Amino acid sequence: MTTVTLTREDHIGIITINNPPINATSHPVRAGIVDALDQVDHDPAIRIAILICGGKTFIAGADVTEFGQPPKDPILPDVIKRLEAATKPVIAAIHGHALGGGLEVALGCHYRIADKSAKLGLPEVNLGLIPGAGGSVRLPRLVPVTEAINIITSGKPVSSTKANEIGLIDAICHGALLDAAKDFAQTILDRDMPVALVDRPPVDVPDSSAWDDIVATARKNARGQIAPLAAIDVLRTGLEKGAKDGLAYERQTFIELRDSDQSKALRHIFFAERSVGKLPELSGVDPAPITDIGVIGGGIMGAGIATASLLAGFKVTIIERNEDACANGRNTVEKHLSGSLKRGLITQDRFDQLMAALSTSTDYAALASADLVVEAVFEDMAVKHDVFGKLSLHCKPDAVLASNTSYLDINEIAVKCVNPGRVIGLHFFSPAHIMKLLEIVRTKQADAKSLATAFAFGRSLGKIAVPCGVCDGFIGNRIMSAYRKHCEYMLEDGALPHQIDAAMVEFGFPMGLFAMQDMAGLEISWATRKRLAPFRDPAERYVALGDYLCEMGRFGKKNGLGWYRYDEHGKAQPDPEVDALVIAESEKKGITRRDFSHDEIIDTILAAMRNEGDKILSEGIANSPDAIDVVMVNGYGFPRHKGGPMFLTRSDK
Ligand code: NAD
Repeated sequence: MTTVTLTREDHIGIITINNPPINATSHPVRAGIVDALDQVDHDPAIRIAILICGGKTFIAGADVTEFGQPPKDPILPDVIKRLEAATKPVIAAIHGHALGGGLEVALGCHYRIADKSAKLGLPEVNLGLIPGAGGSVRLPRLVPVTEAINIITSGKPVSSTKANEIGLIDAICHGALLDAAKDFAQTILDRDMPVALVDRPPVDVPDSSAWDDIVATARKNARGQIAPLAAIDVLRTGLEKGAKDGLAYERQTFIELRDSDQSKALRHIFFAERSVGKLPELSGVDPAPITDIGVIGGGIMGAGIATASLLAGFKVTIIERNEDACANGRNTVEKHLSGSLKRGLITQDRFDQLMAALSTSTDYAALASADLVVEAVFEDMAVKHDVFGKLSLHCKPDAVLASNTSYLDINEIAVKCVNPGRVIGLHFFSPAHIMKLLEIVRTKQADAKSLATAFAFGRSLGKIAVPCGVCDGFIGNRIMSAYRKHCEYMLEDGALPHQIDAAMVEFGFPMGLFAMQDMAGLEISWATRKRLAPFRDPAERYVALGDYLCEMGRFGKKNGLGWYRYDEHGKAQPDPEVDALVIAESEKKGITRRDFSHDEIIDTILAAMRNEGDKILSEGIANSPDAIDVVMVNGYGFPRHKGGPMFLTRSDK
């Protein structure tokens, strides 16, 4: 198949790009567009051109295989200039996604129409970059500057409805895209050739105090990322100094950012997320078809897992202990789905369909047709054994049986099962219908078919599925336990909770460890510690401060007191009472307290993560350092622009 073709229908030249899967702006596409434009210019029979893509999408980004290669002419900025210099108008006809270079190509065209499900965006900041082919200069010449800034700094695509509202596209089409583009072409045939975007004045230019506000907001949202602020700087230059200077500054900034540590880290995590769930040993193993999901336990996790499964189009049955618990589970799912409805993510019809696809029961016989079951009952081996015994009895012999346990040994859970090869761990993160991360735990006997089915299930839920082996806490909780321990040591050695948290926030975590513990509630881990106390190695250093807090009735944010004191708005304030408790504990243990700088705090945390990560790798729990990075970034707030603890502490970056 030729990558770019030009056909003619009457006086319309149709330039079609075919570069599956995403019609990336690879070299043959760039060269093909230029070539087609030359032909359009020279063909007197053509009065207008349509640029359209075959397959599932418009141009949805760059060709990742060209990353790091020397640029090959024509480079994208020149292709876009060539589009603007065309002597006949070009209409971009957009379906699927017009992202990054794809939207920049569309901005080089003279008109843009899109079908109603199209999405348009400039996601470069997600890779620590800014648009590199004129997007930051052309976009604010088409849409209001606040919209342009929002599109560029958020990296989030907008719907075609929104694009139409703000003037990014000229029309939304409802029928077949090419037909709509041809109809649109007829309506503009006799109009004057539009002025190219680079030659147009900006839609609006903020004054300097408005810029101050824009930058302050962006700095707050960026949480340490440099690309969004660089994008604003470039955009402002293009508005205040003109398009020519703006384009030059954009290119220079793009190249600087491409070589930055942040962009390297963001690219690392981007590729790690896409590769981590691809297991060579599962290639060629067909997953079993799944339509019916069972969820045991309709509590926090079970209801979230049920919601995620419903949203992915599965039929779901929740099994609970009694009718009240069934009703609670159902209500929680309904609450989650109402949230989606309120945010406009689903329609009322869809909401009704999803609720109709949910059933609850106290009888395991209701799981007779389930293809995959996720158990999310209390964290107690006896309860889990009871549940898996019943699942063995009532489910199809090849139904995949998964546990969402946080810490228990899934090999041990599988013992009670007929066909233990189908028992695996599906460790979701709370809230399960929102968090993207899913650890897929491979038990000793797990068979390839069940694993492949679990990965397929994870993908259909839209999760980033990370394979891992059985151990206490799997990848994420195990690393978190390790670094938590070192944070607690630092408390006794001289740091205060709010100092550790401040260092973590400054580093880029959304919140510090102690604020996070307060949010989760301190009493659950206290109960676990009490349960495990008899098995603790007496020689190991143990920090009892968390226990003292619970003994004092400080259970965290929900009762206004934990590691912090919470005001009536729920805002955390360092509490002198806690500081005194920490200092008294050091004294009691005969430890001379010393100061910790933010750097030392972060170095300690990173070293703890790295050490535990190395152990996890050597035990084969994670199959690559990338898997650890993906878990910590997506489940534990590790700043994405730092790439994850394994990447950040790598000496060969
Ligand atoms: P939860 O207490 O909110 O819910 C547990 C539910 O299981 C309750 O509704 C209870 O009625 C039901 N249940 C108990 N025994 C049952 C049985 N025999 N049959 C049917 N239903 C039964 O607990 P949760 O926070 O949802 O945790 C559930 C599991 O998920 C635990 O193993 C936990 O370790 C794990 N997990 C929790 C989180 C989290 O953040 N809460 C995260 C990951 C994993």
